[in-house]
Amino acid sequence: MNRADTAALKAAMITAAEAIIAAEPELTRIDMVIGDGDHGIGMKTGFTAIRRELRDNEYPTPYALFHACGLCLVKSMGGSSGVLFGTLFIGGLETIRDLDSLDGGDMCAFLSGGIDAVVRRGKAKAGDKTMVDALLPAKEYMRRALPETRDIDRILEAAERGALEGVERSKDMLPRLGRSKGFRENALGWPDPGAVSVSVLLGGLKRGLSVQ
Ligand code: ADP
Ligand code: MG
Repeated sequence: MNRADTAALKAAMITAAEAIIAAEPELTRIDMVIGDGDHGIGMKTGFTAIRRELRDNEYPTPYALFHACGLCLVKSMGGSSGVLFGTLFIGGLETIRDLDSLDGGDMCAFLSGGIDAVVRRGKAKAGDKTMVDALLPAKEYMRRALPETRDIDRILEAAERGALEGVERSKDMLPRLGRSKGFRENALGWPDPGAVSVSVLLGGLKRGLSVQ
């Protein structure tokens, strides 16, 4: 599939939201070990709100669709990850402002803008054991795939592969001082929950597009 229009992207977002909702027990289990245990419930709340929002509304453009998704997360989730996942959808919007459909290059530009905004806002560095450790390799894999293909499903597949690799690598990282510092040693061997969420989100988007 080369391009996806607003309807296809909306269907993909609903599939992604369902994937996040289904991952809640796993996300909760991981955040219980290495964080304060609320990540799974927070994500489930945010993506349940997105699913409701998308079922009830129509959007003229991909810009309007993703803008609505970002606002939903910021409004419904609360906490640092609500703002950060909201930023992921909002930070790259300018790159797709006038488009009726997105190809892989457009999706790469949109997600990369969101990823850069998450890094600016959260100030996490690579290796701090955060969602950034899944987002940065996702961006890198998309960029590397682009000379070969502009198919949107193949670019999302590359993004998911990068994120999954980041999830694996996050298992060996210690969380930043200040966050879950009481759990620093327990965290070894477990992935960062936010990084897992990123991989579930990108995988859900990819599957939601490729089954159409
Ligand atoms: P909270 O940290 O408010 O309890 P959650 O438990 O929902 O929020 O989310 C925790 C996840 O948020 C972490 O696993 C990490 O991936 C991500 N996270 C937290 N702080 C930052 C940050 N400053 N930059 C990037 N990601 C962060
Ligand atoms: Mg938490």
